[in-house]
Amino acid sequence: MRPDLLNPLFAETGSLKGVGPGLARPLEKLGLSRVRDLAYHLPDRFVSRRAVANLDEASVGEQVVVALTVREHRGASGRGPYRILADDALGNVVALVYFGRSSFTAKKQLPVGERRWVAGRLDQFGQSLQIVHPDHVAEDGAGLMGQLNEPVYPLSEGLTQGRIQALVHQAIGLLPDLPEWIEPGLVAKQGWPMWKDAVVESHRAQHPAARDRLAYDELLANALALMLVRSANRQRSGTPLVGDGRLRAKLNLPFALTGAQTRAIVEIEGDIAQGAPMLRLLQGDVGSGKTAVALHAMLVAVEAGAQAALLAPTEILARQHAETLTRMAAGTGVTIQLLTGRDKGRARESILMGLLDGSIDICVGTHAIFQDAVAYRNLGLVVIDEQHRFGVGQRLMLTQKARRTPHCLAMTATPIPRTLTLAQYGEMDVSRLDEMPPGRQAIDTRVVSQERLADVIDGIGRHIATGAQAYWVCPMVREQETEDLAAAEARHALLQERFGDTVVLVHGQLRPELKDAAMERFARGDAKLLVATTVIEVGVDVPNATLMVIEQAERFGLAQLHQLRGRVGRGSQKSTCLLLRGEALSEVGRERLALMRETQDGFQLAEEDLRLRGGGELLGTRQSGDTPFRVADFEQIARLLPLAHDDARLLMERDGGLSSPRGEAARILLYLFERDWGVQLLRGG
Ligand code: ADP
Ligand code: MG
Repeated sequence: MRPDLLNPLFAETGSLKGVGPGLARPLEKLGLSRVRDLAYHLPDRFVSRRAVANLDEASVGEQVVVALTVREHRGASGRGPYRILADDALGNVVALVYFGRSSFTAKKQLPVGERRWVAGRLDQFGQSLQIVHPDHVAEDGAGLMGQLNEPVYPLSEGLTQGRIQALVHQAIGLLPDLPEWIEPGLVAKQGWPMWKDAVVESHRAQHPAARDRLAYDELLANALALMLVRSANRQRSGTPLVGDGRLRAKLNLPFALTGAQTRAIVEIEGDIAQGAPMLRLLQGDVGSGKTAVALHAMLVAVEAGAQAALLAPTEILARQHAETLTRMAAGTGVTIQLLTGRDKGRARESILMGLLDGSIDICVGTHAIFQDAVAYRNLGLVVIDEQHRFGVGQRLMLTQKARRTPHCLAMTATPIPRTLTLAQYGEMDVSRLDEMPPGRQAIDTRVVSQERLADVIDGIGRHIATGAQAYWVCPMVREQETEDLAAAEARHALLQERFGDTVVLVHGQLRPELKDAAMERFARGDAKLLVATTVIEVGVDVPNATLMVIEQAERFGLAQLHQLRGRVGRGSQKSTCLLLRGEALSEVGRERLALMRETQDGFQLAEEDLRLRGGGELLGTRQSGDTPFRVADFEQIARLLPLAHDDARLLMERDGGLSSPRGEAARILLYLFERDWGVQLLRGG
């Protein structure tokens, strides 16, 4: 149960004054559903303005507040902006410039002949002065004088700075005082404010200590929760599984295992022979051969008389896994069955029977394999492919399916830097496949300007004329981004015009049947060009596809680019990856893409990406899902995470765990960051 103290923080944003249905979507887009979220919606930066009597007193580029009289509206012509001309006290003319829909509000706020106070940045355009999208327009200057120093918040369409400020202000008024959960010596040494002060200060002005404290809180919550999972797991009883090797002996793989694969298998065998359930992460770059490792682990379980399940994040991937495993395990006589949400009626019934009576040894599927109706005779091992798609919470639910906790092997191809591995998978032991199977060809990677699109399309034409296939990836950085989706559809239409029916489109919002049909056409080789958003990121093995084009490559994280690129270079032919970049590429952006050209080592890319982004470039360009954190940025993670880990350990091992006074406070912290699955584990035992 969440402590009552936190109730005001978990009130819905909708309960605040001035939040009508119109704000629901913009707020949801920013993930601001509760008062707590608003409190943690920290400013990107602060502006400080100067009040001036007239524009002669101001310089170009300066943030000012000035009284203006509105003279004339000039409606948007064609694609140009909406311009409102106004005079200052000396008769200097300035244009207030609005793009797109923001002109609707401006028309109402700035009637001709009226005097208004305007806050914004004074710019020069040719010979004339202008203020583009003023931050504030007010009838009365007094309010603006109180806002000469002002936070600037991340916004979504439909929200203004004024609106979000008012909401944050209300949220801050609701903050309770919370007890201190950080080790007192550390607080003193760092000069950190108490929690509530830290929130208030972070919204008021640039205050690094306050921001650090809030980031640290989040890292501590995470470290503690993971430690709780780990210790609860140690107390669980699992079933020791010791295989006799009889099935593995019949395995007839067309290759010898790499040293890294063999090491990982030995580590897994050691784990599952124990009474405590295994909790192990298998980390290995795309193509490093995780499937063969998983198969060995599952065969050990079956040799020991248990069943194994492999969970994949998508239907496409589940299907591919089932086929690959069936092929690989052909000589062993084990029964492998695919189960997805699309199996219905009699077929599904019969699969469920097989799982219950044990005639199915290995079940492969999507999360459907863990629905309530699905019961196993003796589930001993769960393998989760592409771990990052599943949160810790879901992982725990899975492992509660069986009477005895099954062993769990999670696999991920996302190369993450070591510091982040600790943050994300701190409760797990890690095996790394740091050696690629022999004979991999380097992928020829080039960075090409978006302006050369026509050449690139010609190149595709020549490529598919040879019978080879290609991928065309459009960015869809966040799910359900309608503009991105439209762009992908438009690109598909354009390419289809040129290449006809051999072009197929796949994206996250397509109905599963259509998606699978398109994928199958591509996998069979009937379709030559697959236009896709990032849904192809995981899985999908088409060796004949040897060219990949990635549009607006600068919008992707390096790890993501690397994973995408891993879709090509799978066969014996030389493969190419073209990274199309936009025009306005920053220095760091350039450097990042250059790295892609220079190395194919996923772990190195991840470390470098972290280093480059740590430089503060990241504000506003951060991608959801990059880290499990919303407050802590990359630089703070690197600097503060080790401290948080030590602190969590101190609390657990020396300071009496969660039942000590500091532990009580730490419980509140876990609820605050919704890491309360840690607490629940403690209770559930
Ligand atoms: P991933 O780690 O991305 O899941 P896969 O398991 O799909 O990688 O393996 C990629 C390819 O490499 C497959 O075609 C697989 O058969 C092959 N492979 C795996 N292990 C070896 C090995 N030791 N030697 C040669 N090829 C291998
Ligand atoms: Mg794989």
